[in-house]
Amino acid sequence: MAREKLTSVSKAYQQRSISARLEAFFLDSVGLVVSNEHLKQVARDPITGNEPENWHQRVSELRTDRGYTILTQRDDPSLKNGEYCLESTDRRETAKVRRAINKKIKAALLELSPACVYPGCNLREGERDPVGGGTVKLQVDHKTAHNHDDGGLNVLGNYQLLCGRHNVTKKNLWDDQTGKLNIKAILQFIPHSDKVVAKEWLSNYFSENSSERV
Ligand SMILES: [Zn+2]
Repeated sequence: MAREKLTSVSKAYQQRSISARLEAFFLDSVGLVVSNEHLKQVARDPITGNEPENWHQRVSELRTDRGYTILTQRDDPSLKNGEYCLESTDRRETAKVRRAINKKIKAALLELSPACVYPGCNLREGERDPVGGGTVKLQVDHKTAHNHDDGGLNVLGNYQLLCGRHNVTKKNLWDDQTGKLNIKAILQFIPHSDKVVAKEWLSNYFSENSSERV
């Protein structure tokens, strides 16, 4: 599939350093083919308008130091000389390290208990998922996501395995950024029998707390 080309630089980049301007531009143009004319334009000093000679070097540093995968003709023959493409916002080093840690943790967890820990699920790695279809591929879930003060990334007890479906479920029902439960999503998600329990509980709750008892 041919890559889409950026037609023109659509805004002025005011960042102070050449690298910061180029990085912002690439991040705005993820997946698009950009030309060295675009890069020269972005690299230009926003105040003086001078075109730096070393913009090329700054692009190399985005690759080597910042870990971005910026493709050129050498990586992808469909690109022409002087064309570049940032394929995704992923940065190599961190993504690579993360993947390696996850792989180790998954192997260790699989040895302990090779099944999804979601209540009532118990699907095992490689099994067929009778609900979602497809083969179960268990995913490493950090129990208290984004809290790395609990002994670091390598403490096995901080992790559990979830099947893909329940990993998504957990994300939808519980916002791990804010730690808040998504109550509406939970009520929608639970089976009818549980909704009946919830309704009874709520009507008791409100009658007990109401001044006009039913
Ligand atoms: Zn599951």
